[in-house]
Amino acid sequence: MSEQYNSICITKLASSILSIMGLEIPGDMDSPIDILVKSCNHKLNSEHADRVVIYNPDAVAMWLYQKYTDMFKKAVCCSDISLPMLSVMPSVTPVCFASMYSGVLPEYHGIKSYVKPVLKVNTVFDTLLKAQKRVALVSTTSDSISMIFLERQMDYFIYDSIEEVNNKAIELVEKDEHDVIIIYNGNYDSTMHKFGTEAHESITQLENNINFYQELINKIKKCWVSHNTFYGFAPDHGCHDIDGNCGSHGLDMTDDMNVIHFYGFNPRI
Ligand SMILES: [Zn+2]
Repeated sequence: MSEQYNSICITKLASSILSIMGLEIPGDMDSPIDILVKSCNHKLNSEHADRVVIYNPDAVAMWLYQKYTDMFKKAVCCSDISLPMLSVMPSVTPVCFASMYSGVLPEYHGIKSYVKPVLKVNTVFDTLLKAQKRVALVSTTSDSISMIFLERQMDYFIYDSIEEVNNKAIELVEKDEHDVIIIYNGNYDSTMHKFGTEAHESITQLENNINFYQELINKIKKCWVSHNTFYGFAPDHGCHDIDGNCGSHGLDMTDDMNVIHFYGFNPRI
């Protein structure tokens, strides 16, 4: 639906997280999102964030936000900024999340197709761990994000169902034992592949993602009053319909490459 490619690449999230936390950015990472860092300075009263929570719903294309804007109301209202972001090629899940969290393009991190090897290059998680940050990754069994960031000294909470993932994420916020929490939900992606991007079944899952994001942020705002928190809703790639009423992605087209991200800051009281 959108005809222009967005200008801010998802490779910029890794260094944005580090910058917002006041940590040094490794030289090989793409630079931070300037407008996001400026927004942080304003919202967190020139302090750094000591907590970061990134929610990764799979395949939320920017055209979905353009076409169903009102459905995103809850995500908009609990965030401070919405950013049109550009994915990487090929626009498939392991390639995109590898780029998002390593801060480099696929030719540098090495995942260039739908394969899920453990990433050997430096990621934002490695930099966070070196800085003594406690990192939690909450995701579903055998999904990309559960596989490619393994073998690091962080806490992996891998479950068979989205319900278990989301319950654990809420519990982790309540427990407040991690500095950085990453949560993955693949329900919209798996449903749209099967039924099409705008099928009732798919849109219901997208609504579930938006509802959970709001629930998560409400929990953060309630529980983390003593923390400066940076949070976000950050899908990996978009989607488009193909023959047979199925959805797909992976191509160099705006429907697949343009995604919508929401970010927010919750200052300590
Ligand atoms: Zn994906």
